[in-house]
Amino acid sequence: MNRYAVRADLLDFTADPGWGKPHDASAGLRWRPDHWLLVDGSGRIAGVQAEAPEPSWLRLDHRGRLLMPGFIDTHVHMPQLEVLASFGTELLHWLETYTFPAELRYADPEACSAGSNRFLDALLAHGTTAAVVFPTVHKASAEALFTAAEQRGMRVIAGKCLMDRNAPPGLTDTVDSAERDSTELIERWHGRGRLAYAHTVRFAPTSSDAQLALAGRLLAAHPGTYLQTHVAENQDELRWVAELFPDARSYLDVYARHGLVGARSVLAHGIWLDADDRALLAREGAQIAHSPSSNLFLGSGLADWRGLEQEGVAVTLASDVGGGTSLSMLRTMADAYKVQALRGVRLSAWKALYAATRGAATALGLEREIGSLDIGCVADFALWQYAVGPVAAARDAAVSSLHERLFALMTLGDERNVVSTYVAGQCLYAAA
Ligand SMILES: [Zn+2]
Repeated sequence: MNRYAVRADLLDFTADPGWGKPHDASAGLRWRPDHWLLVDGSGRIAGVQAEAPEPSWLRLDHRGRLLMPGFIDTHVHMPQLEVLASFGTELLHWLETYTFPAELRYADPEACSAGSNRFLDALLAHGTTAAVVFPTVHKASAEALFTAAEQRGMRVIAGKCLMDRNAPPGLTDTVDSAERDSTELIERWHGRGRLAYAHTVRFAPTSSDAQLALAGRLLAAHPGTYLQTHVAENQDELRWVAELFPDARSYLDVYARHGLVGARSVLAHGIWLDADDRALLAREGAQIAHSPSSNLFLGSGLADWRGLEQEGVAVTLASDVGGGTSLSMLRTMADAYKVQALRGVRLSAWKALYAATRGAATALGLEREIGSLDIGCVADFALWQYAVGPVAAARDAAVSSLHERLFALMTLGDERNVVSTYVAGQCLYAAA
């Protein structure tokens, strides 16, 4: 690849901007309007400068557009694009009615391959370059997802779903088959290129104690692997978990007792957690993948983002498609703002954008690779239009501060604002 330089307005973060009142010189915000981002021949960020680079650098002029690090979606389901926008149910009924039937189709390796390619291309078209992903219980679905991610050079964390009970025939494994399939997938994919393995417990109700114990053993035995699951999303789910695990102190405790709550654990939702749960998450360094669009759509509840952080818990942002209704991290941020507004807290554009970039990278232990425009990081980034269409354009023309401009983008924008998306320096998506 030839080295090149992109001219645009560069926005990223050097640190967490926090919950204070946002302004244009907020701590942690790094704003470099009309600068050049230099990308070297290996697909890494080589520098940022105000003046044009020497002529040996190929120049891409995106003056007047916004360039940000690629977004990181910390919880999303590859096989659920087909159940987006399904009417009328809460979590448990939604799984049974829409999701499990959709996931059954992934018994077919061809469906896995087509679904994985469609899914990753859709992420890129939404400006998302890295993700923590659930495929299905089928080993072939994880194989297909890793294969498709490797072809694109994307940073993807995933693993086959573990579910050995309370799911339809055809969507369950066993402790033995899960161990065999997981081990083979780890050996083949973990640490290969930009891929990492995540032990993927669907949620407590669909795994036996023996399978949860297996996940704990695998996590401990394979350093650098992650754990992903759901926790404390919905009240009926909480009651079911209490029935299934009468000895557990709480839903989170079901996981903690098997060594599944640690620094590399990504737990989606975390709406209904008590003080002991929060203290445990903070102590172990586990992160909550806050999924506001899904929580609103399924009527699950309003997660206490600021409260979790005040108690030391890392919180990242996730689309949770197909419970969530859009792969767009801007739409996700707009929903997060509304969820927090109902809790009496105002989410700034800085906080939201940080959470979907450097914040997620830091929580995943990947801040030297993704999430910022730091020199040496992999050149995963997207170019954005500030406004699309006459309404957003009129709003954009009326702004009087940078935060106002970015907050309007976060609230009104979506995938239509994406101009192009780059992974490791390669343009993998360009709007028509
Ligand atoms: Zn989910």
